Amino acid sequence: MKILCVVRNYAPHAGEMKAEVPSEPTFFLKPDSALNPKQMPLFYPDFTQDLQHEVEIVVRIDRLGKCIEPRFAHKYYDAVALGIDFTARDLQRKAKAAGLPWLLSKGFDGSAVVGPFVTLEALRQATGKETLTINNMGFDLSRNGKMVQQGNTEDMIFSVDRLIAHVSQFMTLRTGDMIFTGTPAGVGPVEIGDVLEGRIEGQPMFRLEIK
Ligand code: MG
Repeated sequence: MKILCVVRNYAPHAGEMKAEVPSEPTFFLKPDSALNPKQMPLFYPDFTQDLQHEVEIVVRIDRLGKCIEPRFAHKYYDAVALGIDFTARDLQRKAKAAGLPWLLSKGFDGSAVVGPFVTLEALRQATGKETLTINNMGFDLSRNGKMVQQGNTEDMIFSVDRLIAHVSQFMTLRTGDMIFTGTPAGVGPVEIGDVLEGRIEGQPMFRLEIK
């Protein structure tokens, strides 16, 4: 199983990172050992002084596919989750400045928080929003009860279907693979004692403590 993550998929986040908006999707990988699917508390790692949250919609692939056409991409997923792409920002900055891969700053144990997956249909029912799709889904993250990030998939630079079509030209997608689809603006630091809570369309999706 692989965890694909998209870089800069919301223009305001690219702006806050002082990075250019990409002309085609850019991906990196997290190892499966990064996963924290049960929302166990995350122990603040010793190797960073700047641990930051990036809340993201996560899509789970449920069919084997390669070279998937954009118009068929929707057949390759059915469920979404809300997750956090935790980033050791100081390590990432150092790697970027040296032109080196940033794997360790984003691939450490516990860096991939993923709440439970729910089908789009279940979300429509839970929210009463019949028009809800992967392309108009609101989500947010609060830190100690205060909202710190808020986004909507309609603001993605590259839609989920476009991401799947693009990456599957290079890599076979397998059942169970996950795609972190990018973070909106508002990324920021966490501290020991913080409680992070994520919602999709107001529905609680995860609660995580930093210890
Ligand atoms: Mg991210």
